Amino acid sequence: MPDALERLAAKARACRICVEAPLGLALPHDPRPVLLPSSTAHVLIAGQAPGTKVHVSGMPFTDASGDRLRDWLGVTPEEFYDRRNFAILPMGFCFPGQDAKGGDLPPRRECAPAWRAPLLSLMPRIELVLPIGLYAQRWHMPQLQGTSLTETMMKWRTIFATPVRPLVLPLPHPSWRNSGWLKKNPWFETDLLPFLKTEIRRRMTTCASKESLV
Ligand code: SF4
Repeated sequence: MPDALERLAAKARACRICVEAPLGLALPHDPRPVLLPSSTAHVLIAGQAPGTKVHVSGMPFTDASGDRLRDWLGVTPEEFYDRRNFAILPMGFCFPGQDAKGGDLPPRRECAPAWRAPLLSLMPRIELVLPIGLYAQRWHMPQLQGTSLTETMMKWRTIFATPVRPLVLPLPHPSWRNSGWLKKNPWFETDLLPFLKTEIRRRMTTCASKESLV
């Protein structure tokens, strides 16, 4: 990773904004930012925020959601964590804590304004962003978002065909909480996922062949 991105990622990993200058209630634990930026990846996975397991592991998507996401992408864990293939930046880098019912709180709103644009400016090879869930979709495709997740997802072909750089292809969160949504929308599995797998494999192959020419 080039020095500038390395330095900025190190600063983000040492960030304490949400305990020292929070907007509202402070983060209820020590920050542990989880991010995998990359100056060479062609695909950015824009997730939501770490859950409890990722907070412990310090690596993104080391949980059941990650297993499902890798299945959707058609990649192995080795390919997924290879920074030549993917950069991974959630909308909130730290686990935000849980509500009274045990559900994860939304990503910290301090995080994206502080870190997202500077980090992305040092990741020039990103060709495709996969915004996962409402928060990432609001940030990465504000003009293209529908009034609900379902409405957004149903127009995925139009969104992907929109000539913006980088291209965007929205995804629902791969959490078990969305299993009901997946059942109600079988086109996601039959239409979108084969398309997604092809796009990802093509970009990984392109990336590998470009690397081999260097
Ligand atoms: S969530 Fe983001 S802004 Fe808040 S402490 Fe973690 S890295 Fe910093």
